[in-house]
Formats: sequence, structure tokens, C-alpha cells
Amino acid sequence: MEIRKEEPKIKCLCCDKMLTDFEATRKHAVTGMFIDLCQQCFKTVQSDSHLPTKDRQDLISADDMDDSVEEEDDNHVDSKDY
Ligand SMILES: [Zn+2]
Repeated sequence: MEIRKEEPKIKCLCCDKMLTDFEATRKHAVTGMFIDLCQQCFKTVQSDSHLPTKDRQDLISADDMDDSVEEEDDNHVDSKDY
């Protein structure tokens, strides 16, 4: 067995895709458990059941928002503060 020096990357529980820092640090707001899902799988879950989550908005990157997001920057309606 080889021991790698690089830090272990976390993979999506559903599709085994590597998670970004943002995805890997997303937690369930109530249980504090890491969600460990990529954006796509998370969205699927989220649209099904609205999980309360805590995420690190400071870690979000362009990779985390690769879906065609329409530009609605003018008025931030959903500015939730946790
Ligand atoms: Zn996934």
C-alpha cells in the first residue's frame, strides 16, 4: 500500500466525484454532519427535502456554480444569515 502525501480528497457519496473545498465543508445545520455531496447530487437531494445546511460561502468558487446561473445580482432576495 502506498501512502500518499497529498491530503485526502473527499468524494461525493453518490457519484464519487471529487468535491471542491466548498462542497466538502458543507454541513448539516442541525446534526453538524458533513453532507459530502457534489453540487449536482446535493441539488437533487435539496430539491427533494430541504436540508438545513451550513456552508462556507467563502470557499465557494466558480466550479461550484457551473450550472447556468442566470444573472440576478441586482437584488439579493435570499440573503439568509446563519
Ligand atoms: Zn455527486
